[in-house]
Amino acid sequence: MKVLVPVKRVIDYNVRPRVKPDGTGVDLANVKMAMNPFCEISIEEAVRLKEKGVATEIVVVSIGPQQAQETIRVGLAMGGDRGILVQTDQTVEPLAVAKILKAIVDAEQPGLVITGKQAIDDDANQTGQMLAALLGWPQGTFASEIVKDGDKLKVTREVDGGLQTVALNLPAVVTTDLRLNEPRFASLPNIMKAKQKKIDMKTPADYGVDIAPRLAVVKVAEPRKREAGEKVADVDTLISKLKTAGAI
Ligand code: AMP
Repeated sequence: MKVLVPVKRVIDYNVRPRVKPDGTGVDLANVKMAMNPFCEISIEEAVRLKEKGVATEIVVVSIGPQQAQETIRVGLAMGGDRGILVQTDQTVEPLAVAKILKAIVDAEQPGLVITGKQAIDDDANQTGQMLAALLGWPQGTFASEIVKDGDKLKVTREVDGGLQTVALNLPAVVTTDLRLNEPRFASLPNIMKAKQKKIDMKTPADYGVDIAPRLAVVKVAEPRKREAGEKVADVDTLISKLKTAGAI
């Protein structure tokens, strides 16, 4: 079974985002970028499926600027077989990403697509679901366990207050949650080997997808600054302070 893993290049999760002074977005100038953490989990899961003999080939796809090639290379160093970069310097909204991915699925015919549950830059949580809808495929979102069971894929989903297990007909789309696995670090020999792996270069026009934005970001704001804490003498004082502040 061929597995397609879309990976997004985003601001590194260790970096504290700074909002641009005019409030139009996050300042990405000279900021460290990395693979979206949920996409690392997707790659890891695909590699584990290959190690179990369930997956036969892992295709790593990214839609983004030229530098997204580095993100694909990380996926190839972790165990991906080949890459596809759909190059554009424009912002590509989840619907357009899903349309491009659908065109790639039509061409590649994978048995499974594993996306992250969300990209930590736009926090959209939309692409996997939209892709499943465009393809008319079943979807298992927020996966914390994936098991191939005969001709079905059993996906355990993290739902509010518990777990739900669903059995999907294949082909299917799965989106990964945090507890699915712990992604491996790519070893130096694998990083070197990944340099030889093939990355096909494409553009959104190659897939006939119009990536013009459908929405405008009106405003981005920093979270409110946390006020400094205060030490109180005892529990009674704490309760009376909380009461005065209207917190209880
Ligand atoms: P989102 O819907 O934007 O929160 O993203 C969810 C998932 O969709 C990500 O974890 C990726 O697997 C995939 N995805 C979103 N944008 C891109 C992109 N530009 N290139 C490749 N994959 C993407």
